[in-house]
Amino acid sequence: MAEKKAIVIGGGIAGMSAAKVLADHFDKVILLERDLYPDTIGGRRGVPQGRMFHTLLERGRREIEDIFPGFHKLLDERKMPKVSFGFNCALMTPRGWTRNVPIPIQRSLFCTRGMLETTMRDLFKDDPRIETHEQTNVMGLVAEGSGDRARCTGVRALKKGADAPEVMLGDLIIDASGANSKAAMWLKEVGVEPPKEETLDPLLTYGGQLYRLKEGLEFPKEWWWTHGAFIQRVPPSDNKAAHLIRQESGLWLLTLVAGDGLDLPEDEDGIADFVGGMRSPLISGMLPYFEPVDIFTRYRLPSNRWRYYEKWEQNFPGFLAIGASTCVFNPNQGQGMSVAAADAGILKACLQKTASPAALPKLFFKEQAHFQKNAYRLAVANDLKFTAVQGKRTIGIKLFNWYREQQTAAGLADTYVARKVGEVDLLLKPVSSLFHPVIMARTLFARLFLFWRANPTQQESVAALPPPPAEIPKRWRNELRTAAAYVYRTITYKAGLAR
Ligand SMILES: Cc1cc2nc3c(=O)[nH]c(=O)nc-3n(C[C@H](O)[C@H](O)[C@H](O)COP(=O)(O)OP(=O)(O)OC[C@H]3O[C@@H](n4cnc5c(N)ncnc54)[C@H](O)[C@@H]3O)c2cc1C
Repeated sequence: MAEKKAIVIGGGIAGMSAAKVLADHFDKVILLERDLYPDTIGGRRGVPQGRMFHTLLERGRREIEDIFPGFHKLLDERKMPKVSFGFNCALMTPRGWTRNVPIPIQRSLFCTRGMLETTMRDLFKDDPRIETHEQTNVMGLVAEGSGDRARCTGVRALKKGADAPEVMLGDLIIDASGANSKAAMWLKEVGVEPPKEETLDPLLTYGGQLYRLKEGLEFPKEWWWTHGAFIQRVPPSDNKAAHLIRQESGLWLLTLVAGDGLDLPEDEDGIADFVGGMRSPLISGMLPYFEPVDIFTRYRLPSNRWRYYEKWEQNFPGFLAIGASTCVFNPNQGQGMSVAAADAGILKACLQKTASPAALPKLFFKEQAHFQKNAYRLAVANDLKFTAVQGKRTIGIKLFNWYREQQTAAGLADTYVARKVGEVDLLLKPVSSLFHPVIMARTLFARLFLFWRANPTQQESVAALPPPPAEIPKRWRNELRTAAAYVYRTITYKAGLAR
């Protein structure tokens, strides 16, 4: 019998995860990656965003752990920093500094994108079922038949140093080539109409640079934000955000975000001016303790883009698209890699129903879109809060943004509401869960009657420095409550690990 082969285009988060999942259903999986994976955490051309800050949310961590067992343990062994906002990292939201808490509430994984990819790769590079071809650039698709009878049968790929692309044939071809996917062009070239798409330009430019503490200097003891600081933009017109966050191996990553087409600085003086003009002097005050260890890199964010694969009328058996090649959105909430990994989780579930190259694409596109729309809608709705962004502000979007605003405010007084909002932001629950009657009722109640509970300083959008270190409450009832919450969180955290 002929060998069943799957070809994955692109070895980023979605590509590596998809290859691992496909290996259980195909005799051979070929992963084609245009770059040479670096040995170090250094960036690579195919992932230009990799030099900017990348956090992995709880959903992404669970999904990757599920596909690459041992992922979390390996990151722990490599001593990746764990960041908890309000506990070891200061966070200034549009409403001001978040509450300072004495115990970690929700820890996210903060390491360089390079380290994350390297760790995933270390867990699958020895898998004999997956054949990885680095420095192999896919130039187009290969198809049989035309119109509605067309079927994807392979790719044309150019290996570094070769004179011409070679044809590689497979039963299933998966586009995982990220935000700059050329799939629309490739599909047209083989006579297939690509799916329709919608776009929205968030008008954002990111810039990133790695730093370390200056020789002989120590992080000041009175700064409780030992893992860094985040300052977000305030809608509708604030055009500056910045973060300085601890990464692995004593490195710190400075990220600047400029909105409304604002230019980013190029040199140290420009960077100092940029952070000096923000609504809090915190990062500006921290920077003199650090020195750069690489160059400042800029990246103009692509538009949010939704490719309607789930409504694609053209039947093109043998072709799938996954991750950012299907749906790109503003990384403001750090959801992109988690979505890419979860998409592979969805592929895994779909493959258990069918591995047929004819039936799988339609099933997968539908399920993938159902999940991705959560992150996409959150990002687009948030972008439309900024007046310079050109897009249709439907009544639905205005109402949604208003309701989110009420929930954020209610969350300051009611931790239940805050937790439910957090679950949606971490992609653990769908956006629709925010409209559960209990959450709606508690939001309304908190907004009407509990406003006095919210710490007034938190509601100032301009507050110079974070609130002082929180003290662990001394009263025994509070002690008990804190201990119970800690045990509960530890158990749920471990349960997530075991998943
Ligand atoms: C500035 C910025 C900050 C971000 N911050 C975060 C964050 O904090 N948290 C988060 O979860 N997400 C973040 N994201 C989003 C995240 O980077 C992406 O959503 C995620 O990487 C998508 O994964 P992917 O595998 O689909 O694509 P990618 O990771 O982009 O991988 C695509 C791969 O395909 C390869 N490739 C491309 N074309 C070809 C070709 N023709 N042939 C062969 N190989 C090819 C590329 O080299 C690359 O390896 C951020 C994005 C940006 C722009």
